[in-house]
Amino acid sequence: MPAIDGLPPLRDVIVTHGLSAKKALGQNFLLDLNLTAKIARLAGDLSGSDVLEIGPGPGGLTRGLLAEGARRVLAIEKDRRCLPALAEIAAAYPGRLEVIEGDALDIDPLAHLTPPIRVAANLPYNVGTELLVRWLTPPDWPPFWDSLTLMFQREVAERIVATPGSKAYGRLALLAQWRADPHIVLNLPPEAFTPAPKVSSAVVHLTALPAPRHAADPKVLERVVAMAFNQRRKMLRAALKGLAPDIQDRLIAAGIKPTDRAETVSLEQFCALARAVAAG
Ligand code: SAM
Repeated sequence: MPAIDGLPPLRDVIVTHGLSAKKALGQNFLLDLNLTAKIARLAGDLSGSDVLEIGPGPGGLTRGLLAEGARRVLAIEKDRRCLPALAEIAAAYPGRLEVIEGDALDIDPLAHLTPPIRVAANLPYNVGTELLVRWLTPPDWPPFWDSLTLMFQREVAERIVATPGSKAYGRLALLAQWRADPHIVLNLPPEAFTPAPKVSSAVVHLTALPAPRHAADPKVLERVVAMAFNQRRKMLRAALKGLAPDIQDRLIAAGIKPTDRAETVSLEQFCALARAVAAG
């Protein structure tokens, strides 16, 4: 069946451009254009938005985003072998795809984008988590993005949406849920990718809230949460001892039992604790 954009099937693109997958770059490609179009639709209404895509590879998701009507796509790719394949897509969608060669961790894409901006990516796990944390912790809120639609290992996706009392609950859940609304919107088996990775994956869609759910200083909250979960088995009065000499009183002021452990404390309670700690 010919692709809707008149470009060759992705399996042919990979052969033509010699894009054998490199493990070091976390290359597990999505070659089913129906699936990439579905992921693009999960990113929301793209028609009025610029989309930042990290790691386009041979361009399956890029083609999905453009076919689903993205106003413009800015794609950042580290592997220069992919650039000719991406240039063919740019030619098929004149003026709508810009590709930057480089490491997404080093490039500031904002000069190339016009709001509203959505982010969509199928990235290697380590880069994905690092970028997610950066996107969730800018100095000011709301951030540059309206939504993030990101592929993760299923286990990481579960950490992002986890609730108190579960093993997966921790720093990532609190960062993601304080100022955004995250949901797992698609589960994918290993065979959805070429080559198939060892683990299952999931797409997480996060929308930015206009303001944080509860008041707290971001730096203090991050510090409290990091310390609390660094020693997640310890009671909070011990795990947070270094934070303030009277931490026991501050925990009580925030409505938290000093004998509680981090994994039972809600986002609202962590924010109250951050306020109590910042109160000096
Ligand atoms: N989006 C494509 C797809 O769905 O088929 C490729 C996905 S593959 C899992 C990850 C892509 O990210 C690869 O093309 C890889 O070269 C690229 N990549 C890896 N590290 C990167 C980085 N630090 N910055 C930009 N791209 C990177």
